[in-house]
Amino acid sequence: MKGTKSAAPPRQLSRRALRLEVSPTVATAARAAALKRQGVFVYDFSVGEPDQGTPAHVAAAGVAAIEAGRTRYAPAPGLPELRAAVARRYREDFQVAFAPEEVAITVGGKQALYLACQALLDAGDEAVVPTPCWPTFTEAVRLAGGKAATVATAERDGFAVTARRLARAVTPRTRAVIVNSPGNPTGAVVPPEELLAIGGLAKRRGFTLVYDDTYRHLVYAPPSDWGLQALRDLLGDRLVVVGTASKSYCMTGWRIGWVMGPRALVDACAAFASHSTQGPATFAQVGAVAALEGPQDFVGDLRAEYRRRRDLVHRALVGIPGVTCHEPQGGFFAFPSVRRHLGPGMPTTLDLARRLLEERQVAVVPGEGFSAPGYVRISFARPLEELREGMRRIAGFLTGRA
Ligand code: PMP
Repeated sequence: MKGTKSAAPPRQLSRRALRLEVSPTVATAARAAALKRQGVFVYDFSVGEPDQGTPAHVAAAGVAAIEAGRTRYAPAPGLPELRAAVARRYREDFQVAFAPEEVAITVGGKQALYLACQALLDAGDEAVVPTPCWPTFTEAVRLAGGKAATVATAERDGFAVTARRLARAVTPRTRAVIVNSPGNPTGAVVPPEELLAIGGLAKRRGFTLVYDDTYRHLVYAPPSDWGLQALRDLLGDRLVVVGTASKSYCMTGWRIGWVMGPRALVDACAAFASHSTQGPATFAQVGAVAALEGPQDFVGDLRAEYRRRRDLVHRALVGIPGVTCHEPQGGFFAFPSVRRHLGPGMPTTLDLARRLLEERQVAVVPGEGFSAPGYVRISFARPLEELREGMRRIAGFLTGRA
């Protein structure tokens, strides 16, 4: 009709949905999956989970729970016995006292982080995130309406964040600082004295320290005392711990995590969960009780195995001309710099990862996904023989050998 313009249909998706950042590494992961489907053997070092199965006694406890009818709703903050088991494990392993009421069970560590950000941040509040970082940290902050202020750590410090670096990024709008130790993707471990110095900064500047200890049992030279109780004494309600059963107990698919902190925050997290996911499956929570309360030698064996893998991968990487790699102190990722191998034919680590996959069937995650171009993340949560051959292939690719 004359004079009427056909108006564009109103936007369907929310601004929040449209703002979500899709990781630039998704393309490489999709290509690796496609190759595998075609029957190609891929040396897949992009994985973020242990290759071992869940310990048999934990799996059995989950099965028995289903058979015993533990298939009904659990309370939003989690089963009381699991909240108590988490508190007890931290008391035994890290000599830090949280009451069961100061623990909320969540759908993995991811949801713990998401809920903690929802509970802590208002629109426009800042949360400081040291980089290189796991992308969910910045996204969880943004999804809560917050602003993620990143602060770069340095390879020469082993990527461990310091109170000094953080102090430069903290402003009057800073409500939280997220510290992930051991770190994904860097393998950096923040030593206890530095953690305490960061705690001192949190106290002086009035922000909450969100401490993600997902890889806490995979530390290759653990200190005799992590100083967590000292940190808690210093910070009180300003300390929030985000943890998970995923890595220590090889339970990534069970989706059991937790947030520990002041009751008001724990209750707020549970209230958010009660209007969305409720909690993880009830029988999965029962299985997690078996993991936390049963024999812990599994965790020590896992650490010993990952240490052998770390040593092999690190030795191989530093032996490649033009590659530098800080020795990972924890977790199961190596984070070498391959910057000197970039050039006109292969300008970014995204290109490097793509070619490494096509030409040598080795999958790694390009550093762009962690705000660290020039680096790649190599997971050593794979069997030793695969790591050995994979490292040979990476060396061959970078040095132009067959
Ligand atoms: N924090 C960090 C640093 C991680 O690397 C991960 C897993 N990639 C998580 C939290 C969450 O793990 P999950 O949700 O399986 O517990």
